[in-house]
Amino acid sequence: MTDSTGSPSGGGGMGAEELFDLTIIGGGPVGLFASFYAGLRQMKTKIIDSLEELGGQLTTLYPEKFIFDVAGFPKVLARDLAHQLIQQAMQANPAVALGETVRHLEPLGDAENPRYRIVSDKGSHLTRTLMICAGAGAFSPKKLRIPEAPALENRGLHYACRSKAVFAGKRVLIVGGGDSAVDWSLNLRDTAESITLIHRRNQFRAHEESVRQLQATDVKILTFFEIKSLVGGGGEQGLTAAVIENSQTKEVRTLEVDAVLVQIGFDTSLGPIKEWPLKVERGQIQVNSHMETALPGVFAAGDVAAYEGKLKLIATGFGEAAMAVNFAKVRVDPKAKFFPGHSSEMTAQHESVVTV
Ligand code: FAD
Repeated sequence: MTDSTGSPSGGGGMGAEELFDLTIIGGGPVGLFASFYAGLRQMKTKIIDSLEELGGQLTTLYPEKFIFDVAGFPKVLARDLAHQLIQQAMQANPAVALGETVRHLEPLGDAENPRYRIVSDKGSHLTRTLMICAGAGAFSPKKLRIPEAPALENRGLHYACRSKAVFAGKRVLIVGGGDSAVDWSLNLRDTAESITLIHRRNQFRAHEESVRQLQATDVKILTFFEIKSLVGGGGEQGLTAAVIENSQTKEVRTLEVDAVLVQIGFDTSLGPIKEWPLKVERGQIQVNSHMETALPGVFAAGDVAAYEGKLKLIATGFGEAAMAVNFAKVRVDPKAKFFPGHSSEMTAQHESVVTV
């Protein structure tokens, strides 16, 4: 149901509700490992994430940082760890619904035979069990706080690049100083008519090598500038110009542009999950020693899960994910063993799931 890059399939907006054994909310490191493990246990699995790519905090917040405390890796770049986890998870071909934020949960079955309908901003999903691996909550791009911004959204003002074609032949203004802003400035050069990058500081958070590459291009880089206002016509016309201001000199310039791509980071919010009938305290969901929440068949693992002695680490999240999946398996099939044995001993079963 996916390709090896985790391209979306099986999303809520994509047709009739199909019943899954396990649906995982959150495609961060813990959700990805849970998905892999569910594959080992022959569970029909789906991952839903509000972002357009898998990897959670690893890819969104610190892709270029080294991590030193993941077992088996003396050190690993967060981006590379995400890549390995995605590859591992995709072996069992889970359904993946990206760019979709989960909002509500409707219990359908009973304690013996739980079933849930998960309602997102794009549709709904049916599942026997559910694992919440939502970290600190759904990531959403930080937006411009100027009054005209909402009306111009997707009419020239963008917070994500879903298709380069949107920027084809356009004069594009990119806002931000991190990896996303710098990478899109580089990547859109072959598509856009011209690119200007503004950043409110004079130092970039992006990878040094990318900044060096960018400085060698024809992309116009303006530091200490921020957007002051946007100019846009009605109807089809959309955005026509951006007014920018230098925070040091107070110089104001009007740039005639056709598109603005804002890449200034992300906000997180657990959102309506806080209202679900679970025990939620300070953004974390209480679980028992089976990693099960107050609702039967609803598990939680990773940063979002709380229990005595909890450590918010990737290493502990992986263990929690394996526990939760094994108990979810027993919920789906009460005759199944909780402990499936070691993966190294599972050759026949494993090979039917794992294709590399
Ligand atoms: P996350 O990585 O937060 O992923 C959760 C995912 O769920 C997100 O993609 C989010 O979009 C999605 N989601 C949430 N709610 C919804 C919803 N309603 N609908 C759809 N999708 C939703 N840990 C270490 O062990 N070692 C380190 O060295 C380390 N360094 C770090 C450095 C930094 C700068 C930061 C910020 C964190 C670091 N961490 C480190 C912490 C580590 O990244 C987290 O513990 C880990 O990412 C938690 O994984 P997770 O899968 O539980 O959640």
